[in-house]
Amino acid sequence: MSTVAFIGLGNMGLPMAINLKNAGYALTGFDAVPEAMAAAREVGIATAASVAEAVADADFVVTMLPNGPIVLTVYAQMIPAARRGAVAVDCSTVDVTSAKKAHELAAAAGLLAVDAPVSGGTVGASAGTLTFMVGGSREAFEKVGPILDEMGGRIVHCGDGGAGQAAKICNNMLLGISMIGTCEAFALAEKLGLSAQAAFDVMSTSSGSCWSVNTYCPVPGTGPQSPADNGYKPGFATELMLKDLGLSQQAAAEAGQATPMGAHALALYRYFEEHGGAGRDFSAIIDYLRTATRD
Ligand code: NAD
Repeated sequence: MSTVAFIGLGNMGLPMAINLKNAGYALTGFDAVPEAMAAAREVGIATAASVAEAVADADFVVTMLPNGPIVLTVYAQMIPAARRGAVAVDCSTVDVTSAKKAHELAAAAGLLAVDAPVSGGTVGASAGTLTFMVGGSREAFEKVGPILDEMGGRIVHCGDGGAGQAAKICNNMLLGISMIGTCEAFALAEKLGLSAQAAFDVMSTSSGSCWSVNTYCPVPGTGPQSPADNGYKPGFATELMLKDLGLSQQAAAEAGQATPMGAHALALYRYFEEHGGAGRDFSAIIDYLRTATRD
């Protein structure tokens, strides 16, 4: 069985690493925070004293880190220590420019690489049902298939290096916009005297239907179970939506593409985060939209 180094054992990384370990991979973990290393050891994952030590014998190096600059810092430590022919698998959500830079660094050192950001959150990470959006060569994609299979339910090859991040950023920009639209529609329905159930029954089966209405309804007691039914405990935290909308606007500026709804969604989520939204699920923005004044 192949050996895997797993760098970044946080909310997502630890359950993903556990799934690889349970599948029989020889796994060594590393995290910058001692508490995360201790949590990994508690579930039987061996830890190393540094990135370099963790990756020395690895066939695959999986990273699950907060952002692009940190991924590039870790790659600077990882690449000189990794075996030639090892495959670098960055599952973090990062900006497209950093993702492409990571691919360049890996290629220059003779490593195969993919960017493989995920959707599905901590629930999907624990259940091994994440969706992976993969950017990289066909050869790299085929090599990482077996390990992604142990952590995910759906694996999509989106194109060359950076294409996985591009897909993730576009999807989450649309999600932010659609959630705000969904919340506005439910808030207006309430003001017009319509019950949330009636609004749901119509919108979930009509042309307004979308994931935010049908699967992740922001009104408690309406539709399938969602964070709204659990006091808006994340789920997908407002801060993470803000991060992804920020990445979408960075990418849009670099690509010269106007995304006015994406820009507006970013501004609304920024305001919401600063006014009670921090630490809450992103669907809680309905609370702000219910009380926002119309002018
Ligand atoms: P997290 O903050 O819980 O975990 C990140 C881990 O990286 C932390 O344990 C941190 O100590 C570690 N770390 C930071 N710098 C490091 C370094 N230099 N070397 C080694 N370890 C280092 O974050 P998370 O929720 O696990 O998210 C990880 C990535 O997954 C992010 O890019 C996020 O956007 C993405 N993501 C998260 C979710 C979610 O629901 N949490 C969903 C999809 C994608």
